[in-house]
Amino acid sequence: MAEFGFDESHEDLRRAAREFAEKGLKPEAKERATSHRIPDWMIKQIKDLGYIGMIADEKYGGQGMDMMSVGIVVEEFGKVDISAAHVVLIPTQFCALLQSGTEEQRQKWIPKLCQGELMPSLAITEPGCGTDAAAIEMKAMRDGKYYILEGEKAPVTRGMQATALIVWAKTDHEAGVRGVTCFFVPSDSPGLSLEEIPYAGLIPLNCATAFFDSVKVPVSYRIGEEGKGFYMLMDRFDVVRVLLTLVALGQAQISLNEIIIYTKSRTAFGRPIAKFEGISFKIAEAATKIEAARLLCYRALWMRDQGFKHSKESAMCKWYAPTVAFEVIHDCILMMGHYGYSTEYPLTQRMLDVMGYQIADGTAEAQKLIIVRELLGRKFLPYSG
Ligand SMILES: Cc1cc2nc3c(=O)[nH]c(=O)nc-3n(C[C@H](O)[C@H](O)[C@H](O)COP(=O)(O)OP(=O)(O)OC[C@H]3O[C@@H](n4cnc5c(N)ncnc54)[C@H](O)[C@@H]3O)c2cc1C
Repeated sequence: MAEFGFDESHEDLRRAAREFAEKGLKPEAKERATSHRIPDWMIKQIKDLGYIGMIADEKYGGQGMDMMSVGIVVEEFGKVDISAAHVVLIPTQFCALLQSGTEEQRQKWIPKLCQGELMPSLAITEPGCGTDAAAIEMKAMRDGKYYILEGEKAPVTRGMQATALIVWAKTDHEAGVRGVTCFFVPSDSPGLSLEEIPYAGLIPLNCATAFFDSVKVPVSYRIGEEGKGFYMLMDRFDVVRVLLTLVALGQAQISLNEIIIYTKSRTAFGRPIAKFEGISFKIAEAATKIEAARLLCYRALWMRDQGFKHSKESAMCKWYAPTVAFEVIHDCILMMGHYGYSTEYPLTQRMLDVMGYQIADGTAEAQKLIIVRELLGRKFLPYSG
């Protein structure tokens, strides 16, 4: 029987993704968690299995699947190898974004994306602003059939490996959010250079700073209309926030599974430590919180698939679930004692990894502002008159 909220095709997909994760991704996953690159073989295998461009229309070489399906795959991959989840997640964002692009752009880029030949990363944040995304300084100046991009973006996830950057820049500095426009920029464009940022977690995602020194981009590489970039960005956030959250929950769930086994076999004072309520109640609480956060995520994805607005629900997922994941993994470390604290086990790295998800694509505070806006109205935001 299918799990609550899923149909048989979702269950089949979960089984297949889990099997690949167990057999194909689990070996050496711990070593890969501190390496600085997503291996090419992994990208190829994920592509061969059809998990890149899952939501893309079949006419472009995609699978035409729903967002719930993407959630299932990133959750299962997230249990084993975060970078594999990102190989699925980042193209999904690009496909969603290209719904605002032209038919010519979809025909040009989506087939390459589904073949694993095009690996785009998204560049919004700048050294001077993150939460306040409307304050970006990067300029895109029109010059005939081109735009000239000038500025700096950081961090860019998978930046060092990306073959293209999707960049948000201002075409009109006086127009606030209405002056933001989105561009496709090949990574080998003259004037674009990248430098890795030494993060404590999410290391294989090789986050980078991107420097744009008079980078020339054809007008045909502008995605969406001039001035519409900010709205496209908000829609993209609604999707990616839920998917990132499921990856973090995958990490928490696998840690919990491992700790259940450990606490049943580790003894203290003549009995398994799982017999102490100080341990077993923590496990019960962790399982409940993960399940609650998970259901919130799948509900948000379901709303997406039904065409409902889900900004509030996505924001709820993004503040709550990475916090849950971080707390659960932290508790697992404590329940494992000094072994848990050792880098011989994966728990400390997982904690650093999910901490990255507490910040990436919007902090908890940023999400609460969205929830307040949706529940109380824009005029009750702290920065409105
Ligand atoms: C691992 C990782 C990967 C990332 N990948 C990408 C990427 O691929 N592309 C990209 O563009 N960006 C990326 N980011 C950037 C990320 O989206 C930003 O870090 C995030 O939006 C927060 O911005 P900031 O770091 O500039 O913090 P700030 O905006 O400077 O915030 C600092 C603190 O102030 C708080 N704060 C700010 N404003 C308010 C407010 N109004 N009310 C209450 N508190 C507030 C914040 O919650 C935070 O605690 C990534 C970040 C990380 C950690």
